[in-house]
Amino acid sequence: MKLKGNNYLCPHCKGHLRANNKIILSAKRENGDVGLMLLDPELGNYKVINHPSFDVQDGEKIEFYCSICHENLVAKNYDERLARIIMVNKNNKELDILFSLVAGEECTYKVSDGIFEAYGVDSGTYTNFFGETPKY
Ligand SMILES: [Zn+2]
Repeated sequence: MKLKGNNYLCPHCKGHLRANNKIILSAKRENGDVGLMLLDPELGNYKVINHPSFDVQDGEKIEFYCSICHENLVAKNYDERLARIIMVNKNNKELDILFSLVAGEECTYKVSDGIFEAYGVDSGTYTNFFGETPKY
């Protein structure tokens, strides 16, 4: 998929979150456990890698933090149930990437000039907030 070439930045420190083709985030479970989560940079791919001791269960809400500056990545300006990171595409344009904080929920949005592009089977969950139907 051609999106593999995109870079991802923390919205707070603008540090690069992508290394070795994974987006590396620090995460905290509802029970307080902390660990690293490696997300696939391809939008719509929900394969996540984490250490077996960081045993995230589907349905629990995860807090995501920048692995560099440790700021909370919650997408306050959009929805408290989403995280936000910045994608830099091939044309060097910065876009917002939003994804669900709920483990196992397949829901990602790419926001460009006010237009939401939805990825994942659960992306309909948050469309009320955006007031429009996702574009598949
Ligand atoms: Zn940061």
